[in-house]
Amino acid sequence: MQNFILLLSYLIGSISFIVGLKMLSHPDTARKGNLYAAVGMSIAIFATIFLYTNEAGQHLGNYPWIFAALIIGTIIGTMMAKKVQMTAMPQMVSLFNGMGGACAAIISIVEFKHLMHKEELKETTSSVTQFLNEVAHLLIPPANPKLILLTILLGLVIGTVSFFGSMIAFGKLNGNINDKTLPAQQVINIGLLLIIVGLLVAMVSGFTGIDTTVLFWSLFGVSALYGILFVMPIGGADMPVVISLLNSFTGVAAACGGFLYSNPVMLTGGILVGSAGTILTILMCKAMNRSLTNVIVGAFGGNKTGGASEEVGGAYKEISMSDTAVLMAYSKRVVIVPGYGLAVAQAQHTCHELEKVLEEKGVEVTYAIHPVAGRMPGHMNVLLAEADVPYEKLKEMEEVNPEFAQTDVVLILGANDVVNPAAKNDPASPIYGMPILEVEDATHVIVNKRSMKPGYAGIENALFYQPKTSMLFGDAKKVLQALVSEMKNM
Ligand code: NDP
Repeated sequence: MQNFILLLSYLIGSISFIVGLKMLSHPDTARKGNLYAAVGMSIAIFATIFLYTNEAGQHLGNYPWIFAALIIGTIIGTMMAKKVQMTAMPQMVSLFNGMGGACAAIISIVEFKHLMHKEELKETTSSVTQFLNEVAHLLIPPANPKLILLTILLGLVIGTVSFFGSMIAFGKLNGNINDKTLPAQQVINIGLLLIIVGLLVAMVSGFTGIDTTVLFWSLFGVSALYGILFVMPIGGADMPVVISLLNSFTGVAAACGGFLYSNPVMLTGGILVGSAGTILTILMCKAMNRSLTNVIVGAFGGNKTGGASEEVGGAYKEISMSDTAVLMAYSKRVVIVPGYGLAVAQAQHTCHELEKVLEEKGVEVTYAIHPVAGRMPGHMNVLLAEADVPYEKLKEMEEVNPEFAQTDVVLILGANDVVNPAAKNDPASPIYGMPILEVEDATHVIVNKRSMKPGYAGIENALFYQPKTSMLFGDAKKVLQALVSEMKNM
């Protein structure tokens, strides 16, 4: 009966993950989806703690330790989630993802010790006991020990790469670590990958004659080094792809744990995270025009200071608040391009107010959403949803690009890289090949930012110097507030 309830809890947990993930795909249902998955996860965790029994019929025990860890983790996680700024979300995702990787690696370390202990016991048991064991195994075949070892080792490698890689990604996004590329970085990374594969083959085949424990810790060391070196040189516009890839690694590592413990909910959760992370990685690679192979061998797009090879500069023109208000109020169609600066200024509510004032004046207003605008996937969608901007008003890049030609005014709010024409025109630019919002096709382009400083990729933007572009300097929130009051007085 106890086992039946345990299995039922796992089934509920697995279903809640799938339903939750599906609901996450739309902003209206995303919060509920997150809650469903969390409830499912809690059911699975508590069912394991209280109902799981091993072959000898014993419960988990260690309750003070388990509950102390649960309480401390819950308090720290809740405090971090409540305190985090929207713009620091990617760092937090990296940190949490790293913790998942660490858990998977620790499971592998513990299970490797158990496996070694079992092997030692086998060697010291008498021949009569061995004979009886073999007869028992004929009746119930045990899981293949090589398969168990391979699963443990894969969990160790993937979890370790994910933990160390995520910690470096956290340090870089937080501004504590700079991009560093070693000479022959790609060769070193490929070399480390080959060593990892070699150690895996040697351990599973058992042909080396070297102590397995020595090989195990060597594998851990090389994986940690690979995790660090793989993320270290990546910078510029490529960081989101790496975070998403590391996320999928953690999912696969957790799935290895699920396989090891024959735990369906861990397996489902791991596979879902692994596959969702992989799909997101592929989509982001497409959005930034990067190949996945390039991500895995590392050292791409890291040159933040490289800048565009084309000379960018000359004179730019400014526009006043009242001219902007008049231009927009008498337009038929306005497209707003939100970017990282809008999130920094926390101007999403004022932006929504501007949109409503414009609509009252009969102007059609939509938002153009670039897949990597801001600092995390879906950043602009979340930001605007927070201000209750109707989801139908947000248009994806592919949908909105052909519409710029029929647009009177494009208002760019704190965006830079995602509208930089160097991505299309300058093969030497670090962002060359990244699809952009083609705002230049509109009749007027108004750019709001505080200065002429570059954005995340650290490169100049020729759009700001084009004849149809006007700069509207200032903090996005203050500028939008001023625009709203100008328009209300018109
Ligand atoms: P950018 O980082 O290119 O530009 C943001 C601009 O906002 C800056 O030029 C800045 O100029 C301006 N700004 C900053 N604060 C304010 C403010 N208070 N008011 C008005 N303007 C402000 O942003 P984009 O969104 O265009 O591009 C995102 C970049 O981040 C891409 O390169 C992307 O690859 C990268 N990235 C994306 C991630 C994602 O998943 N979305 C994750 C990690 C990186 P100024 O200082 O002059 O005001």
